Amino acid sequence: MTKELRCGEIMEGCPTVIRGETEEEVLKKGAQHARETHGIDSLDDDTIRKVKSKIRES
Ligand SMILES: [Zn+2]
Repeated sequence: MTKELRCGEIMEGCPTVIRGETEEEVLKKGAQHARETHGIDSLDDDTIRKVKSKIRES
């Protein structure tokens, strides 16, 4: 069982799918992806909540 986050559900048009073993791992990779690809240095609480709500089991 892995967790999956489709970045495109948050950042329109982004094809990246982030996967991890745990929610924490997905969040960590997601933050890294946001920094490297979208130029977002830090995620605020609202964004983190939004991201968490989009993480699914796959
Ligand atoms: Zn993205």
